[in-house]
Amino acid sequence: MDRIGVVGAGTMGRGVAQLFAEHGHEVVLVDVAEHILRAAAADIATNVRLAPLVRPGTPAWPPEEVTGRIRFTTELKRLREVDYLVENVTEDWAVKRPLYGELDAICPPGAPFGVNTSAMPITRVGAATTRADRVIGVHFMNPAQLTPTVELIRGLHTSDETLARTRTLLDGVGKRHVLVADSPGFVTNRVLMLTINEAVFLLHEGVSTAADVDRLFKECFGHAMGPLETADLIGLDTVLLSLRVLHEEFGDPKYRPCPLLRRLVDAGLLGRKTGRGFHTYESGERRRG
Ligand code: NAD
Repeated sequence: MDRIGVVGAGTMGRGVAQLFAEHGHEVVLVDVAEHILRAAAADIATNVRLAPLVRPGTPAWPPEEVTGRIRFTTELKRLREVDYLVENVTEDWAVKRPLYGELDAICPPGAPFGVNTSAMPITRVGAATTRADRVIGVHFMNPAQLTPTVELIRGLHTSDETLARTRTLLDGVGKRHVLVADSPGFVTNRVLMLTINEAVFLLHEGVSTAADVDRLFKECFGHAMGPLETADLIGLDTVLLSLRVLHEEFGDPKYRPCPLLRRLVDAGLLGRKTGRGFHTYESGERRRG
């Protein structure tokens, strides 16, 4: 079993740590503050407990067995002995870039880096390390422990060996994958972020309400969630940061973030993680009306 390093214990890092721990891997989960790690531990325990309800037919893991395989720490140096690293920190190059320099110095030279970014080019991340051939985009969907498929992104220097290792690792935790070439936002978020942003513009212009925008997508197109509910699930801060990456990378004004999105982020209304975004949530569930 590979020892997995998971950096960032926010929305995505929690699910990624849970996924690997459920499948028997030892995990080192790193974030910058103890209170974030405490919240992550509580969240993971709750999600493991609820797993049989949301994933009928899958094994019911004792929560303490899963959390017992995760070492929660604020010390990056604990990643000294990992075999594979998955990075899930804030979608901001000013945060990711210096971190990759540190990770490169700490982690064993042979350990691949799986980059769980929403939009950043993987080749650029690889260039911030001395192991560009071992850097690969592993774009988990939210919640990482539940969604069946991962978008894999091959950077310019990503080696066949890194790709094969990543595929084997994902197969072992029951994930399917789709491989795409390196381009900002890849396939999923190049389309999804534009859709979300346009839905926010509709709200901003008073064309419709959040509830009706989402209803139309669910009832007319059979989507499981509307674009604004999806934005709430992702986190409006992460949506805004992803749009900024797309805007900067392509230099195309079609990616300019809607002012209403910026205002909601300024107001701290980030979606599910703060209890309110386009919709309001109680105990993780959307309040109707
Ligand atoms: P988040 O804001 O919920 O969590 C980010 C975490 O990173 C925070 O807990 C923060 O404290 C931590 N962090 C920041 N700098 C750090 C550092 N130097 N060392 C350790 N930890 C650090 O964000 P998120 O939604 O979990 O997104 C994380 C990454 O995953 C982003 O790149 C995002 O684009 C990507 N992603 C997000 C989603 C989604 O639906 N939210 C889906 C796929 C990929």
